[in-house]
Amino acid sequence: MVAEIARMTTLKGNRVLFLVHRRELIDQIKKTFKEIGVNNALVNFGMVQTVVRHLQTIKKPQLIITDENHHGLAASYRKIYEYYSDVPRLGFTATPIRLNGSGLGDVNDVLIEGVSAKWLIENHRLAPYEYYAPRLIDTAELKKASTGDFTKKSMDKAVKNTIYGDVLKHYKTLADGEQAIAYCHSIEASKHTANIFNQAGYKAAHIDAKTPKDERSEIIESFRKHEIKILCNVDLIGEGFDVPDCSTVIMLRPTQSLSLYIQQSMRGMRYRPDKTSIIIDHVGNVNRFGLPDMDREWSLDTKKKTKTDSDVSVVQCAFCFGAYERPKGENICPYCGELQPIEERKSELEIDESAELMKVGETKITLNFENNKYYNMTEDEASTIEDLYAIARVKGFKPGWAYMAAKRKGMLI
Ligand SMILES: [Zn+2]
Repeated sequence: MVAEIARMTTLKGNRVLFLVHRRELIDQIKKTFKEIGVNNALVNFGMVQTVVRHLQTIKKPQLIITDENHHGLAASYRKIYEYYSDVPRLGFTATPIRLNGSGLGDVNDVLIEGVSAKWLIENHRLAPYEYYAPRLIDTAELKKASTGDFTKKSMDKAVKNTIYGDVLKHYKTLADGEQAIAYCHSIEASKHTANIFNQAGYKAAHIDAKTPKDERSEIIESFRKHEIKILCNVDLIGEGFDVPDCSTVIMLRPTQSLSLYIQQSMRGMRYRPDKTSIIIDHVGNVNRFGLPDMDREWSLDTKKKTKTDSDVSVVQCAFCFGAYERPKGENICPYCGELQPIEERKSELEIDESAELMKVGETKITLNFENNKYYNMTEDEASTIEDLYAIARVKGFKPGWAYMAAKRKGMLI
């Protein structure tokens, strides 16, 4: 869409100033523009920080396009906008919201909403997804910083070293062998995650902003070739960062930023026929924001808030960790088919906490079950439904597996 608008502008001989906030985005965009037929000679691709220092010398544009417009409130952007106050502007973003949840009305007059994420999935522009939320961290430890997101110190506390074995286990159960991106809360945590996977025989690598350019390209190339299965980072693989297709996202970075949440959770949803993205949220982000493709009310107005905790209508399966929108009537998990226990009227967040605690407890027990007879029993050897549920329990499979196995074996009518 951006390229087409730039193409039509340059077709009329008009100049475009295209603002980005990260240098590495420029080459990608130039290439796309060229493919679409934009006259790049009339486009000034500029890093905001550079443009703001050369306002007197660059040629005046007839249109300013801002990529990732939710950054557009920084002083440098405002200075450019004020300098060209008579030049029309267009801003693009997938998340028209600031970190603190307020709108972008002070640098935009009109908000035009595009199609929804649900529409994109239904029309095969995004891959459908399954969302699992086996929470492994203590969210009670999380403290907000003045920036609006959680402090590193509190994330360190919440994400304790003991969780990593379970991170591996959930990947094996839910997305074994899939190309995955893991989002961690710190560089140490990211390196640690990569180590855990490597030790278990899954080739993994860590990258951060300081990884030398050549090394980073090499790692990304290996990820493209599926030689590396798990790519660990902090917030590096975010907006505009070009990484090869993957199907799985592992979230180990709790956030208060809806924008970051949407970017990270939807990373594996690039469309490919027959692909289903698997999202494994270990940090309770779904409880803060709902599912990635939920309809949200966006607004430029600072007063109107977008959806918050209190109106998130997501429930979590007590059996398989699957997260889904609360259905009307009987509550059956769409992932494993289990009928959910009837809940007392408590807030959804509380319910999720208790279900989660139970699950974490079970997981720990499971790890000591290796000598259990069910651990060595195969599906063929199981003679009752109870056997199958016991196998699922000790091996950490979803109960849905037992249900399906029972069906396969003709135990269910
Ligand atoms: Zn389920």
